[in-house]
Amino acid sequence: MKYKYCPLCGAELIIKDSWDEGGVPYCAKDDMMFFDTPKPCVVVAVVKDEEILLLKQSYIFKNSKVLVSGYVTTGETVEETVYREVKEETGITIGDIKYLGSEFLPTKEILMLTFMAKYVDGEIRKSEEVELVQWEKIEDALCEMREDKIGKNLVRKVLNEIGYKGDKAYRCDISKK
Ligand SMILES: [Zn+2]
Repeated sequence: MKYKYCPLCGAELIIKDSWDEGGVPYCAKDDMMFFDTPKPCVVVAVVKDEEILLLKQSYIFKNSKVLVSGYVTTGETVEETVYREVKEETGITIGDIKYLGSEFLPTKEILMLTFMAKYVDGEIRKSEEVELVQWEKIEDALCEMREDKIGKNLVRKVLNEIGYKGDKAYRCDISKK
């Protein structure tokens, strides 16, 4: 999003030359540049043996299950976001957080940072904002996540990471065949 007005004081921004970024919207009063940056968001595939943690959140996808996700909050590292979101939405404690690449969502200017993490302990205690949280066989994940394209890309990477050799996991995955 290109800023036109200062989010702090409301003044109209001027374009100031920044050495390596070119012209950047700038507020002289606050002496601050407002870069056109995406919103970072994490997506996490939590794995326990042959199972993966799937959620139902109808406001995201009506007929599809999703992975844990959430926005990075100012003041925390991305790894802290991953840990916090899994804990908040599902009650589960994770470890071995591994970064598996990013995807950009142009319509919402969201930068999706994708991760895999291992279950450490805890029982499922879902938050209010989640309709359902459950462990599902990882072989069923791609079928359960029909509408969630980025989530499915992450599950395919996780299947590689865990050395999955079968075909069953890909049976609903038309693009793969
Ligand atoms: Zn300002």
